[in-house]
Amino acid sequence: MVHLPAEGFIQKEKTIVTIAKSFLYPFTKSDGKEERKKMCSETVLMKKRKKIALVAHDHKKVDLLEWVKFNRYLLSLHELYATGTTGKLIEKEAGLEINKLKSGPLGGDMQVGAKIANGEIDFLIFFWDPLESLPHDPDVKALLRMAVVWNIPVACNRSTADFMVSSTIMDKEYLRRIPDYENYRQRRIVGSND
Ligand code: PGA
Repeated sequence: MVHLPAEGFIQKEKTIVTIAKSFLYPFTKSDGKEERKKMCSETVLMKKRKKIALVAHDHKKVDLLEWVKFNRYLLSLHELYATGTTGKLIEKEAGLEINKLKSGPLGGDMQVGAKIANGEIDFLIFFWDPLESLPHDPDVKALLRMAVVWNIPVACNRSTADFMVSSTIMDKEYLRRIPDYENYRQRRIVGSND
């Protein structure tokens, strides 16, 4: 299907890349005045074949498995990662090839988080359990935080996951904005000579 350039799309190296609409409108109103928003310094190209991480807590594994089976063909077009037990279950029950990391409580969530920070995962489906406290709750928070820090799409329940994978930009290249962290990197540390 030919994808026509339109509002929200730009031409890049002969392919049409989808970008966040707000990227095209770097103006914001404040105090009645129009002023230029600080442009973000980086963008990351999310390829058509996305690097998707799948994680589910124990009481949510059946839920995730059903969702994976329903979306099996679509998921097979992408590169899949999962925490240990979730990955083993999906491989066995859905027959998909999965890059398995460590089990969540043994460091798997943190591995996914590190991969997000390194640009090695760009899409997260994370069915966490809101009714149970777990030994690795801090890792869960850290993983969700990384998803927001690096602005990757993240679904924490089935309906969000449904909306995400049925999006018209799911099978297209997408230019993902990375917030400008330069001020943070250059911040003055109290007591240092810099
Ligand atoms: P698991 O980890 O897939 O190894 O069960 C999931 C989690 O608890 O984060």
